[in-house]
Amino acid sequence: MLRRCRATPPGSLRPAGPGVDNAPMIISTHLVPRGFSACALWPFILVRPEHRGCMALIEHEMVHYREQAWITPAWVVLYLVSRRFRLAAEVRAYRRQIALGGVTREQAAQALMGYRLGITPGAAMKALSSGPAGAGTA
Ligand SMILES: [Zn+2]
Repeated sequence: MLRRCRATPPGSLRPAGPGVDNAPMIISTHLVPRGFSACALWPFILVRPEHRGCMALIEHEMVHYREQAWITPAWVVLYLVSRRFRLAAEVRAYRRQIALGGVTREQAAQALMGYRLGITPGAAMKALSSGPAGAGTA
């Protein structure tokens, strides 16, 4: 899931994926959980209509989408019950979004504060800056 999105010029980026057969069904809808701009629930990516043009946001959700493929129920359960799993998943997704210029590292660290991860802003900045996702977490 994603809370923040910086506007991306239309057509400037395309979601990177293994192929058309594995492409998600991207649905513009208000059925995204409250407080979020988008969420991935394989084989769908749900995006609020006002954010449907933000390709960095779609790329963030594509990270979750690829991780969920074929194991969606287990991924969702782990995401909901494990802070460590949720932090690692969000760090991987935000790193992709940062790389595409969708958010700054500072914005991503601030956004991570909204995922009930039990980490400090400093720990969030550190998680986003180096090492494998999830390294150094409690
Ligand atoms: Zn996310």
